[in-house]
Amino acid sequence: MIALNALGPAVALIAAHRLTAEHAGGKPWDAPGIRAALTACDGPLPDVMRAALIAAEDPSLHAPSVEAFRVRWQRPPAPAPAPRGVSCPEHRDHLVPCPVCRAEREAADPVDPAFVEALKAQVAEKARQLGGKR
Ligand SMILES: [Zn+2]
Repeated sequence: MIALNALGPAVALIAAHRLTAEHAGGKPWDAPGIRAALTACDGPLPDVMRAALIAAEDPSLHAPSVEAFRVRWQRPPAPAPAPRGVSCPEHRDHLVPCPVCRAEREAADPVDPAFVEALKAQVAEKARQLGGKR
């Protein structure tokens, strides 16, 4: 059931949706007709609105009605989007880049570039000291 304070915006939304370019070719729906059909529907607001909006997209429907809304009450759920990308060869339920593989890589004691630079500096300093003593 649509609350009265939501009825005006709901009617306006459906009327505007009916007029959008994608549904060109359909006759505009008048507000009193939309209002009458909406108030005659008993059901949760999201279901009524969804059905009314879907019905508004049908240019062959010349007027809003409870029957027109009711046949569109339950649009079948959209199929789950097909997974994109490639599955990780080790973790089939994850796509590449695989978060499990990344976590494993990061956990595997990485060599810190700063440590390498410090080591090079120490070696260079030692070589300089040894070279200076000759
Ligand atoms: Zn993986």
